Parts: sequence; structure tokens; C-alpha cells
Amino acid sequence: MTHISDRVQALAPSATLAMSQKSNELKAQGVDVINLSVGEPDFETPLHIKEAAKRAIDENFTFYTPVPGYMSLRKAVSEKLSKENGVSYAPEQIVVSNGAKQALCNVILATINPGDEVIIPMPAWVSYVEMVKLAGGTTVEVHADITQDFKMTPAQLEAAITPATRMLLLCSPSNPTGSIYSREELEALVKVLAKYPDIMVLADEIYEHINFTGSFTSMASFPEIADRTIIINGVSKAYAMTGWRIGYCAAPQWLAKAVAKLQGQYTSNASSIAQKAAEAAYTGPQDCIAEMNKAFERRRDLVVDLASKIPGLKVNRPQGAFYLFPEVSAYIGKSTPEGAKIASSADLAMYLLEKGHVATVDGGAFGMEGYIRLSYATSDENLREAMKRIAETLASLS
Ligand code: PMP
Ligand code: GLU
Repeated sequence: MTHISDRVQALAPSATLAMSQKSNELKAQGVDVINLSVGEPDFETPLHIKEAAKRAIDENFTFYTPVPGYMSLRKAVSEKLSKENGVSYAPEQIVVSNGAKQALCNVILATINPGDEVIIPMPAWVSYVEMVKLAGGTTVEVHADITQDFKMTPAQLEAAITPATRMLLLCSPSNPTGSIYSREELEALVKVLAKYPDIMVLADEIYEHINFTGSFTSMASFPEIADRTIIINGVSKAYAMTGWRIGYCAAPQWLAKAVAKLQGQYTSNASSIAQKAAEAAYTGPQDCIAEMNKAFERRRDLVVDLASKIPGLKVNRPQGAFYLFPEVSAYIGKSTPEGAKIASSADLAMYLLEKGHVATVDGGAFGMEGYIRLSYATSDENLREAMKRIAETLASLS
């Protein structure tokens, strides 16, 4: 027999992970697939961080840790937030979790009731909508397409607010578009939020360091909303540590307590060894960040240059993260040489994988049909070959 709860039946599977798995399955069958689907740095974790993890094992950091994480790690995070972002969160206001993903889900589950509305600017990372659904909340999706560089305007934000609005979930630099809200643009959104003191702001700043603008403004740095802003961040992207699963929320004290209570009942602490590695990441040399950033910027230039030469693709020039989100609607409605119809961007992404052997993700999974997402966190050689294959596959459609 099978018996799946309504809650889980209502969830959509993660499209980023599903596409990546599909690509790995094809690879295992011997197909030469280039994977531009999942978003993760292709760099190895820096050596001094790996050494710290080995030391942690030898020094027996192998027991349960406090549910919100080792105090030494929370202190390191608190110092990082103060030094780099100019925001003030005591170690007691930080809860370390299994990746930024769990940190986000914790905060949403700890704050959202059925009927509460969460404003999500679209396109947005695949998991936000599903997490709000899991909590029984309602998403209010605000669409901003390529013509506005995928950024929500203050007027759009204000129009989306109702008496039921509990939270705004903002991601900058953005997955899936790479767009970054400037300080002035954030300020304009904060001006609106200042009028609504009951709205919390969940700021996903996981791509903070993959940023080609030279400056980053944390949402929590605006005094008008600081006491109701929750920062999400972690080591996955900045230090090439996706597999280690360390992320955190920095939240008002009352919320950090609630999050720790929730986490204490269903996953306890994040891995003790990975926590020691994360501590080394925050307290050790930071030059690895600049080095990776330089590589991502070069690849951004390469991929934007190559994509702009493909007829029918509309691209912007992302300022951060490692994604390009081209508009592909010129190809929707066309037919493949095999006689199949490309009826959606999902069909196009599937055809690019099956025929062109390049894995991308359908924009529909991010709430914006007519686009696809490319992750350029891979070698220049892979990017050149992938863009060549995409160009050829698209050219074969009529
Ligand atoms: N937020 C965004 C916008 C992301 O792209 C990701 C990466 N999947 C996460 C959160 C989760 O990161 P982590 O690997 O630390 O769980
Ligand atoms: N952030 C990555 C992505 O968007 C990781 C996969 C995931 O967790 O969704 O592809």
C-alpha cells in the first residue's frame, strides 16, 4: 500500500535537483552531457577548510552540538555580519542549520500560519513557493521580467501588500537571474516596508559574495526594518561548500528561539565536523572568495557574449550569482526535426537535454514561463561547448 500525506502530495519536486539527476543518469549511460542545471560552484573547498574538518575529527568534535550550533561558530557568524555587513546580531540570534535551505524552511515554518501571505518576487528559486506551501501559507507572486532586469519595483511591492501579508522573501543577488538590487533600489523598497510594521523581511543573501558590482548592501542594514529582518546565508556558495550543508538564519531573538525549538524536534544540530569547517571558513583567509569571484565574472562575460550571438535569445547582463536567465519565447511554438512541437520552455529545456545534451532548467520552475536558466559555474571549455550545442539545437527548430 502507499499512503502519502496531503502535505507532501501537494509539493512539487525540486526542478533544479530533478534536472541535475536526469543529467547524471544520462551521463551514467555514457551520454556526454554538459550540466548547466544545478547551481553549485565547481571549485574544490579550500584546503585550510578541509584541514580544519580533519582536525575536528581528530579532536573529537564528534558529539551532538547545541541545537543552534557551536557557540564559537555563532560568534564567528555574528562577527562576520557586523564586520562585512554592518548589522548587529548577537550569537544568540543565530541558528545554524543543514544548509541555507533548512534555515529558510525553519523560518517559514516558525512564522507562517495558514492564511498568511508571503510576497515572493518572481522569478524566484524553486524552493520558496514550496516551503510556504508546506507551512500552509499563501504565496503572492510579483512578476518582474527581463524588461525590468527581473527586479520588483516599490509600486509593485505596495500593490501586493494586503492585511494578510506576513512576509516579503527577497533574494539578492538572485537565483535564477543574477540580478542585484542596488542600495538605492533596496532603500526604495524599505520606504514602502516602513509603512507596514507587521511585515517581516526574509532576506536570502546566500549569493552575497558572488557579486561583480564591488558592493553589497544587506537588507538588515536599514534601521527602519532591522528588527524584523531575518538574514539567510551560509558557506555553500561563498566557500564552495555545498556538500557540507551549513547555513544559518540571523533573526530577532524571539524567532531564533522558535527556530531552535523547531529544529530541536526534527533534525537537532547540523554536522559537528562541518560546523568546525564553516568556522574555519569564516575566521580563516578570505582570498578564496575573491579568486572564485574573478573566475565567475570572467565566465559571466563569456556566457553573456556567446548567448547574445544566438538569434532569438534575449539576455541581460547579470551582476552576480552564477546564472543567466535568457528569454526563449522566440522558440516556443516551433517544431523539432523529429516533428514534435515545442509548446513551452519546459519542452525546450527537455529537448536541449535530450537532443543537444545540455542540461538547463525550465524558467517555469522559477515561476516564469518562456525562459530557461543556465548555471555558468563550470569551466570555460564546457561553457563554449554548451553554448555551441544550444545554438545548433535551437537552429534546428522550425
Ligand atoms: N537560497 C538560494 C537562492 C539558493 O540558490 C540555494 C542553493 N540551492 C539555497 C538557498 C540553499 O543553499 P544551501 O546549499 O546552503 O542549502
Ligand atoms: N541553488 C542550487 C540551484 O538552484 C542548488 C539546487 C537546489 O537546492 O535547488 O540549482
